[in-house]
Amino acid sequence: MSGTIETPGVTTEIDPRLVPVLESVRHRNPAEPEFHEAVERVLRTIGPVINSHPEYLEAKLVERICEPERQIIFRVPWTDDRGQVQVNRGYRVEFNGALGPYKGGLRFHPSVSSSIVKFLGFEQVFKNALTGLPLGGGKGGSDFDPKGRSENEIMRFCQSFMSELHRHIGEYTDVPAGDAGVGERELGYLFGQYRRITNRYESGVLTGKGLTWGGAQVRKEATGYGTAYFAQEMLRVQGSSLANRTVTVSGSGNVAIYAIEKVQRLGGTVVGCSDSGGYIHDPDGIDLELLKQIKEVERARLHRYAEERPGAKYIPDGKVWEIPAEVALPCATQNELDGEDARRLVEAGALVVAEGANMPCTADAIAVLREGGVLFGPGKAANAGGVATSALEMQQNASRDSWSFEHTESRLVEIMKDIHSSCYEMSEQAGRPGDYIVGANNAGFARVAEAMMAMGVV
Ligand code: GLU
Repeated sequence: MSGTIETPGVTTEIDPRLVPVLESVRHRNPAEPEFHEAVERVLRTIGPVINSHPEYLEAKLVERICEPERQIIFRVPWTDDRGQVQVNRGYRVEFNGALGPYKGGLRFHPSVSSSIVKFLGFEQVFKNALTGLPLGGGKGGSDFDPKGRSENEIMRFCQSFMSELHRHIGEYTDVPAGDAGVGERELGYLFGQYRRITNRYESGVLTGKGLTWGGAQVRKEATGYGTAYFAQEMLRVQGSSLANRTVTVSGSGNVAIYAIEKVQRLGGTVVGCSDSGGYIHDPDGIDLELLKQIKEVERARLHRYAEERPGAKYIPDGKVWEIPAEVALPCATQNELDGEDARRLVEAGALVVAEGANMPCTADAIAVLREGGVLFGPGKAANAGGVATSALEMQQNASRDSWSFEHTESRLVEIMKDIHSSCYEMSEQAGRPGDYIVGANNAGFARVAEAMMAMGVV
C-alpha cells in the first residue's frame, strides 16, 4: 500500500499506519469523492491522538469510525402539480451514535448523493463531538430540487419523504434538522406527517421547528451567529476583533444572513454576499432588512437587491471573493472557495477565513491560506453553533420548557468560546498553535474515540 499524497494542498503527512484505512475507505466506497476527501482530511491530521493512544489501532477504532453504523436509502415517490408522478431518492446515514442520538440535518438539493450525505455525516460526527453536548452524528436528504416547485409540491414531497423516514428516527434514536433546501417550512411539513403517522407529539424528533410548535429561540440564527462568534474568537487570540473589519460572506441563505447580522452587530462591515447566480458588492455595507425581505419574504433571487439599493452592484457569474476583504466567511456550499480565490484573499491581506458552510474551502485553498498566513477556522468548529443550538432545542423539548432569546444566545456564545478554546488548546498540544484543523480534528476525534473504547466492540 502506498502513502502517496493525492489531494493537492493537504500538507500534513499521513501517519503510515492509517494509509491502509484510507485505501480501504476508497475501495469500499467507490465513486464517492467527497466522502473520500472528508476522510482523508481527518486521517491526515489525527496523528497526535493516535500517538498518545496506540491502543486505538489495535481496537480498529479508525476503521470503525470511518464506517457508518447504518445507511438508509429509499424511494420517494410523489405527484407534481401537473399530475405527473416523480421519483426521488431519500437518504439517512446514521454515522456514529457513541455520544448520543444520531444528529444532523436533511439537505434537499439535486447534488445530493451517497457521497455527499456520507461526507456530511462524517463531518457531523466530529462537529457534534466538539460541542461537548450529547450528540451522535448523522445526515440525510434527497436529490429533490425545491427550486421552482410550488408550496403544494414541496408539502407532498416532504410527506412522502417522512412516510419512510419516520420508522428510522426518534427522540432517542435519530434527530434530523434542516440543512440546504430544508428550513422551517419543510420541517413543518415533515413534523406534521410524522405526527400523523405515529399519533405522537414527539417534539424532540426534529429540531429547527417553528417557535409556536416546539422550536427554540436562536435556532434559526445559530449557525450564522456561531460562525461570526468563532471568527471573533480567532481574532481575539491575535489581540484583534471584528470591529471595523471589512468582511465578505458567500451565500444568502439562512447561514449567510445571520452571519452578516452578527458581524454587523460586532462592528464589522459586510460588503458582499452571493447566490448561485452571482454576487452583490455593496461598499457601504449590506442593508440587512432589504436582504431579508428579498430572501426570506419574497424568496427571490439576489439581483433584486441591486435593483433596490443605490450604490450596490450585482455581478453575475462572479465570485464574492473578488472583493478585497480582511475576513471571509464562506457560507454557501462545499468546495466553493478554491486555490485561486484563496490567492486573491491572501494578496488582499485577509486575516481570517471561517467556514459557515460544510467544507466550502478546497484542500488547495486551505494550503494557500496556510502558506499565506491566513488563520483558518474549519466548518466542523466554526459552524457548530447550529447543531449546538439544536441540542438546546432538544433540552427544552425534553423538559417541556422554553427559554428566552437572551438566555439561549448566551448559551450559544459560551459553547462557541468553548469549542474555540478546545481547538486552540489541542493545536498547541500538537505543536501547531493556531492550526484549527489539527485542533478540531484531534479534539473531536478524541471525544468520539474515548466513548467508543468505553463501549467495547459494538
Ligand atoms: N445542518 C446543520 C449542520 O450542518 C445543523 C444540523 C442540526 O441542527 O442537526 O450542522
